Amino acid sequence: MTTFTGNRGLAQEEALIFEQDSPGHSGVDLPALPHTKTRLGTVKKRTKIGLPGLSEPQIVRHYTRLSQKNYAIDAGLYPLGSCTMKHNPRLNEKAVRMPGFADLHPLQPIATVQGALQLIDQLAHWLKTLTGMPAVALSPAAGAHGEYCGMIAIRAALEARGDKRRKVLVPESAHGTNPATAAALGFEVESIPATEDGHVDLAALKAKLGPDVAGIMLTNPNTCGLFERDIKTIADAVHEVGGFFYCDGANFNAIVGRVRPADLGVDAMHINLHKTFSTPHGGGGPGAGPVVFSDKLAPYVPVSWVVHGKNGFDLVEHASGDAVGRLKAFHGQMGMFVRALTYMLSHGNDGLRQASSDAVLGANYILASLSDVLHPAFPGPCMHEALFDDSSLKGTGVTTLDIAKAMLDEGYHPMTMYFPLVVHGAMLIEPTESESKDSLDKFIGTMRDLVRRAKLPGAEEEFHAAPRLTPRRRLDETAAARKPVLRWRPPALDQAAE
Ligand SMILES: *Cc1c(COP(=O)(O)O)cnc(C)c1O
Repeated sequence: MTTFTGNRGLAQEEALIFEQDSPGHSGVDLPALPHTKTRLGTVKKRTKIGLPGLSEPQIVRHYTRLSQKNYAIDAGLYPLGSCTMKHNPRLNEKAVRMPGFADLHPLQPIATVQGALQLIDQLAHWLKTLTGMPAVALSPAAGAHGEYCGMIAIRAALEARGDKRRKVLVPESAHGTNPATAAALGFEVESIPATEDGHVDLAALKAKLGPDVAGIMLTNPNTCGLFERDIKTIADAVHEVGGFFYCDGANFNAIVGRVRPADLGVDAMHINLHKTFSTPHGGGGPGAGPVVFSDKLAPYVPVSWVVHGKNGFDLVEHASGDAVGRLKAFHGQMGMFVRALTYMLSHGNDGLRQASSDAVLGANYILASLSDVLHPAFPGPCMHEALFDDSSLKGTGVTTLDIAKAMLDEGYHPMTMYFPLVVHGAMLIEPTESESKDSLDKFIGTMRDLVRRAKLPGAEEEFHAAPRLTPRRRLDETAAARKPVLRWRPPALDQAAE
C-alpha cells in the first residue's frame, strides 16, 4: 500500500537533512558579525559551504525519526552472533553521568582526577583478577585495536631477543580482524584448517609449528561457538617452539567467572568491554578493548598506565625500557571504563559467573529448540552462540540471506550470516544472558515459522520479496558496496556535472 505522505502509519518517511534545507532557517539567533578584516589571505572562502538551514523543531524531528528507524537492544532481541548485543544496565548509565566522571578532561592536573585514576586502577585490578594475568593495557579503543596492541607487544618481545620470525598461525574460523591485524604488523599469516567438528585441527597445527612461528591468534570459545578443548595442548606446543599465544578474548562473556585465561597458557588477550561487560556499541557508543598480558610480555605494555605514587595515584605517560609507546591519545575510553566497572561491581564474581552460564544456557536452548528444523553446524552442545548451516533449506530456493530479510519483517535484527566462513550459509545466533525464556520462545517460534514457510510452494518468490514492511525494501547490496554514494550533492550541481 502506498500513502500520500510516504509514511507507513507511525513509521515516518524521512528525507536527508540536506533535502530539507530551507535557506535562512536556523535553530539559533546570533547577532550580526562586526566588520573585521580577514586574516585568511588567499585561502578566503569563495562559495557557500552548503550547510542546510533548518529550524530547531525540524532538526529535533529529523533526528528523532532517524533514531526510530534504528534497531537497538533496547527495542528487541538482537541475535547478532559474535557481537554480544546484551542489555546495558541503566545503573551503568547513572554512574557514568555523575559529574565527576562526565565532566572530566584528560588534561586536568593529576591531583584533581584522583577518583578517576582510582577507578581505572580498580578496573585494571578486576580485569587482571578475572583473567589471572599480571599486566593490562587499558588504552585500546576496540577489540581490533586490542589485537593490534597485543601483537605489537609480541613483535617487540621478538625484536628484543633479536628474533626474526614472522609467521603467525590463524585458524580458518577466526574473526577477520585476526589475520588483518597480523598482516598490518608485517607478520605473514598462515591459515590452520578446522576439523569436521568445528575445532582447530591439532595435527595440522602441529605440522606448521617450527622455529619460524612467531605465534598463534586463537579465539576461545571459537567463532563456531565451541570451546577449544585442546587449548592447553596448543598453548604448550606453541610455547615449545618459542612462539606466543595471542587469544582473541572477544568471547570472554561465555567463560568469565569460570575459566581464567592465564590457566590456559595465554600470553596476551583483549577483552571487549563492550561485549562482556555490557557497554553500548554497534552505533550506540565507542568500544574499549583492554589487553591483558603474561609475565613474558608485561615489559612491552604500551603507555599509559596508573601507578600508586607518593601523593596518591599517578600516570606513567612515557615509555621507558622496552615498553611500546602510545597507541592512542590519552588513557582509553573513560566512559566505557566507568560502565564496565559498574557492571562488574553490581554483578560480583557470582553474578558474572551466572551471566556467562545464562548466556550459554540461552544459546543451548535455542540450539536444542531449533535443531529439528534447522541443521546445527556441529554436533553436541555449544557455548554462548548457536550455529546452523543452510542444509535444511536445500531445494527450497530460500537462502540464509532470505531468512535474514524475512526476520526484518518479523521485527528482529538478523543473526550473523555467512560467518564463520567454514560453515555453508552460516547462521550464527547469540541471544546473550539478557533474554528471558518468553523472549527466547518467541524468537524460536518465529524462526520455526520462517523455516516452515520456506518449505511451502512459492516460497522462493515470497522470500525474495522480503523485507516488505521496512522503510526500504531489499537493496542491491553488491552495488551499495561496490559503488557507494557517500556524498549528497545539490540536484543543480548533479545536473551540471552530467
Ligand atoms: C567483536 C570481535 C572482534 C572485534 O572487536 P571490535 O571491538 O569490533 O573491534 C574480534 N574478534 C572477535 C571474535 C569478535 O567477536
